[in-house]
Amino acid sequence: MKYYSTNNRNNEATLRDAVVKGLASDRGLYMPERIKPLPKEFFDEIDTLSLQEISYRVADAFFGEEVPADVLKQLVYDTMNFDIPLVKVTDTIHSLEMFHGPTLAFKDVGARFMARLLGYFIRQEGKEQVNVLVATSGDTGSAVANGFLGVEGIHVYVLYPKGKVSEIQEKQFTTLGQNITALEVDGVFDDCQALVKSAFMDSELNAHMKLTSANSINVARFLPQAFYYFYAYAQLKKAGKADNMVVCVPSGNFGNITAALFGKRMGLPVKRFIAANNRNDIFFNYLQTGVYTPKPSVATIANAMDVGDPSNFARILDLYGHSHEAIAADISGTTYTDEEIRDTVKNTYCETGYLLDPHGACGFRALNEGLQPGEVGVFLETAHPAKFLDTVEDIIEAKVEIPAKLQAFMKGTKQSVPMSKEFAAFKEYLLGQ
Ligand SMILES: *Cc1c(COP(=O)(O)O)cnc(C)c1O
Repeated sequence: MKYYSTNNRNNEATLRDAVVKGLASDRGLYMPERIKPLPKEFFDEIDTLSLQEISYRVADAFFGEEVPADVLKQLVYDTMNFDIPLVKVTDTIHSLEMFHGPTLAFKDVGARFMARLLGYFIRQEGKEQVNVLVATSGDTGSAVANGFLGVEGIHVYVLYPKGKVSEIQEKQFTTLGQNITALEVDGVFDDCQALVKSAFMDSELNAHMKLTSANSINVARFLPQAFYYFYAYAQLKKAGKADNMVVCVPSGNFGNITAALFGKRMGLPVKRFIAANNRNDIFFNYLQTGVYTPKPSVATIANAMDVGDPSNFARILDLYGHSHEAIAADISGTTYTDEEIRDTVKNTYCETGYLLDPHGACGFRALNEGLQPGEVGVFLETAHPAKFLDTVEDIIEAKVEIPAKLQAFMKGTKQSVPMSKEFAAFKEYLLGQ
């Protein structure tokens, strides 16, 4: 199956090239040329299948033409080796807990899958090491570093701004060793991003070493995010509640919700979608007005959703033939202030005992306000509340238990390379590798 660019349908690539390049040469995002519907029998028996079995069936529809069945199966089973339970919060609202993976956030799924698929393509060629450069303001670095840890033939350089990420986040990518190197940049996130972009454009550097990115727009990070929506449906079906399922996704760059929209095209019975935003309300405004106006992002307590120009909007437009009417018929939006997010975390905790993180809180609140009679809501709890310890403890005025997996990271010793924000210094460092 070919992949085309959202900027030009004739600009095509193989899966391998789309994964290695990330972004198309015209700076568009790659889309699969077909989205294969899954057969009725699959949905009939879905409640008897495991997360791994369901994920493989979905992966086969996307990647089955390029990757041999036994390889793909192994890859999917390795990726999905932790549970994604659907937990009842109220009679009609359920939390799809995405935080049971190695870094306790949903990005683990895409990062782990991409690492393994890229590893497979590299082994096929059988020689040169590939170097992944990733700039992070926190969560992406930990998911990518842990996803790629120990994958043969790949070395990862994580660039992060000195003093700008929380201690928990920093420990998740500076304590790993092996094929992961953390570079502590004397600057802000934008400086890290600029260093990575300059590196990709530098011909001398590219002649010296093979460079690629693990950006969230990569199809190998993006498409696997469809897996768990099918699993959410399977769990609701098992409980006899799968009619009128409404899926609500706390959204920033809109990769996660776009994967769910792909799921619907494959036959997943979702009645409608809600994109929950914090104060970064670009998509919300688009739904109301039909006009897309990117803005600089504003900082909020749900900081992984602080995006002012969501990359995957291009994929949503493409999927719906650029029709605002069609998009608004499937997806509605909400936008919440920090104050509203805080109230939601606090009230939900007091009333139900369920502790939300600031991102999941946007999702829960949107369902709590917008669910119609007869509908059943699923929101994505995109990260564990303990990842936002200070914020959450401050809201509920109580201590939050830190999961053993996070505590284990805290015990590791930080190892990082101090790096200037000047490209010349970064380049010299890489040339010495
Ligand atoms: C990345 C992230 C989001 C936003 O997901 P998108 O796919 O960018 O919309 C939401 N919550 C958490 C915790 C995240 O890390």
